[in-house]
Amino acid sequence: MSASPDLVTLRRQIAEIARLCWERGYIGAVDGNVSVRLDDGSLLVTPSGTIKFLLEPDMIVHTDARGVPSGGGRASSEIRMHVVCYEERPDIRAIVHAHPPTAVAFSLAGLDMMQALIPELVVTLGAVPTAPYGTPGTDELARPVRELIRCADAVIMERHGAICVGLDLLDAYKKLEQVEHNARITFMARLLGQAREMSPDEVKRLLATRQDLGIATTNVYCTHCGMPGFAGVRLGTGGEGRGREEK
Ligand code: 13P
Ligand code: ZN
Repeated sequence: MSASPDLVTLRRQIAEIARLCWERGYIGAVDGNVSVRLDDGSLLVTPSGTIKFLLEPDMIVHTDARGVPSGGGRASSEIRMHVVCYEERPDIRAIVHAHPPTAVAFSLAGLDMMQALIPELVVTLGAVPTAPYGTPGTDELARPVRELIRCADAVIMERHGAICVGLDLLDAYKKLEQVEHNARITFMARLLGQAREMSPDEVKRLLATRQDLGIATTNVYCTHCGMPGFAGVRLGTGGEGRGREEK
């Protein structure tokens, strides 16, 4: 995807990402929503209640920065959730929300994804915090997401799904795939017996490689925001490296 795709291209890419979510089993037919933020701050977002793998580019809804449609169509019922993410994260341009089954099952079982288990996740996202349950489509859901997305590029919403943010659509989608893949591996390890955690020293060594590897994702082990959702991070110092405390 180019740095500044035109509107037609973006509409097509949104439809493609929604279809990919369905093909990969991350959504049922009408689940999930995808958005991008344009240069002027307005949004392109998937329409509410539609079968997401049948979306055509001209069905994508254009809204202002607050999520109010500027033309025809009904924006996603979760538009509020997208708006709060864009408000909190001036650095991001795209959001993918889906219902990845294994990651959601973890939240149903009362388990989170805050343990340091898999190096690839530790070095990129760090961990994936879980927002407490809130009624979908309401501020009850948007409020905890607002708190957590400040310091994380991916958040699981209890009993519901995952929301992933990125510099562009593929960047956000990539994180969704990562969340579900890591949830699956963790699930299998638990079935086999146990999922053994990495030591704080191993985690710190991994985080120290981020700069050389050119990894710029927001990493929950590198943030110092002290949000309740990060209480599960047991690294003592809260990690090291690029922080978001400058915000
Ligand atoms: P929308 O079709 O309204 O975007 O809703 C899908 C969804 O995932 C609700 O949680
Ligand atoms: Zn949803």
